[in-house]
Amino acid sequence: MMRSALSFACALLLFACTVPNVPVAPRAEAKLEAADADRWASFLARYLAIDTTNPPGNEANALPLLQETLSGMGLTSTVTDLGDNRANIYARLAPNMPTKKGPLVLLHHIDVVPVERDQWTMPPFGGLERDGQIYGRGAIDMKLVGMLQLAAMEMLTRQRDRLEREVIWLAVSDEEALGLGAQRAVADHMNEWLPDYLLDEGGFAVRDFMNGQDIVVVATTQKRPMKVRMIAQGDAGHGSRPIATGGPRVLAEALHRLDAHPRAARLIGTNVHLFEALGRIASFPKSFFLSHISWPGVLWLVEDSLSANKNLNPMIRDTVTPTMLEAGQKANVIPAEASAVLDIRLLPDTSPESLLRDLAALMEGLPVRFEVLEPPGPAVPEAPTDDPFFRGLTDAVRAHAPAAHVAPWTVVGANDSRFFAPRGVKTYGYVPVFLSKQQIDTIHGHDENVSKKELELGLRIYLDAMARTLLAPMP
Ligand SMILES: [Zn+2]
Repeated sequence: MMRSALSFACALLLFACTVPNVPVAPRAEAKLEAADADRWASFLARYLAIDTTNPPGNEANALPLLQETLSGMGLTSTVTDLGDNRANIYARLAPNMPTKKGPLVLLHHIDVVPVERDQWTMPPFGGLERDGQIYGRGAIDMKLVGMLQLAAMEMLTRQRDRLEREVIWLAVSDEEALGLGAQRAVADHMNEWLPDYLLDEGGFAVRDFMNGQDIVVVATTQKRPMKVRMIAQGDAGHGSRPIATGGPRVLAEALHRLDAHPRAARLIGTNVHLFEALGRIASFPKSFFLSHISWPGVLWLVEDSLSANKNLNPMIRDTVTPTMLEAGQKANVIPAEASAVLDIRLLPDTSPESLLRDLAALMEGLPVRFEVLEPPGPAVPEAPTDDPFFRGLTDAVRAHAPAAHVAPWTVVGANDSRFFAPRGVKTYGYVPVFLSKQQIDTIHGHDENVSKKELELGLRIYLDAMARTLLAPMP
């Protein structure tokens, strides 16, 4: 209450002006004919019709379509057999001129998550269209991106004389489980390819995101998942004689402490830029605070309202979420031991050791210990936003969707970029196909679908981005 009153008073004292977007002209060589847009929409429909549900994956079933599409552009593809009808596939397009620039990898995953068939009103593996929308598991996550990246390869093969860096199109298996495909690709090729950049999923474009404004976010980093078991070791007893030191009671107290003491809110560079962009969309006085989030004390003023938003809360702190509980075997026996699995997501620069130390300190006086079940992978450093490549991605959006706001984004889940970024590759999540908020809920949900009209605009943006970042300017 105090904080919000103070916030409003401060906001009234100072007023933030919004910065209009600078107009950007589209790149001519990225021109897209309507017939090409239709052809790529049909490709997506065919790709969606191949069931690559993981588990078990069966990603190799998509190889004939992908190979045929690549060879139609004159590109040779190479398959890495992963066994069990699973595979990775890649195709390389080198520039005709000598270059010192490292390659760009265009990455997508072939597998999709399972569906609850009875909850779908359209066949999940039909690739069918209804009212201008293409339906199917993977329509957004992420066969859509595989399609955008293939269209980019086609445009680049035609513009090869002006290509300034090599492009490697890579499709992998198993992103939705352990990332076996991406890990294999890193092990097999990273030392040879030495890419400078990688484009993946993780970013998105949303119509009417806030106050009627559209937004396109480009992922520049992601959090690090870590799984820990919290074990309460109390006393055993008879259910008829309650004791405060029984395992479940101790665990309940430990869970309560976790809840009452969330990790401290703080800002990483990506989120400063994100909040500044949200400040241009939000209404006053929120707009003022978000635009000036890095000023001393401002995060403290808005912390409560950011924490209350389930999408923004994980952006400003490490999260520690109990997901699985275990205790007892019989209703009348108080077990000495009770445990909770904690799904921990670290901001990219949090040290896992310091987090575990903090958790232990929080449990002081309680017989509770922690066991690391899955340590976090290497940190995903934030990819720069003051980089010409990032500018190319965002200028392409501005050229074709001038009213949209553009910002960097932190992926709070995890994707395959996490295997590449720690090797010094600047990785961005870039999916400039506009979705409605309702369509976002269909990702990993029911009736996943994408608009054909937005897909055409998304293709224009993607091709334009590739022209800006990879091709020498027209003479
Ligand atoms: Zn995905």
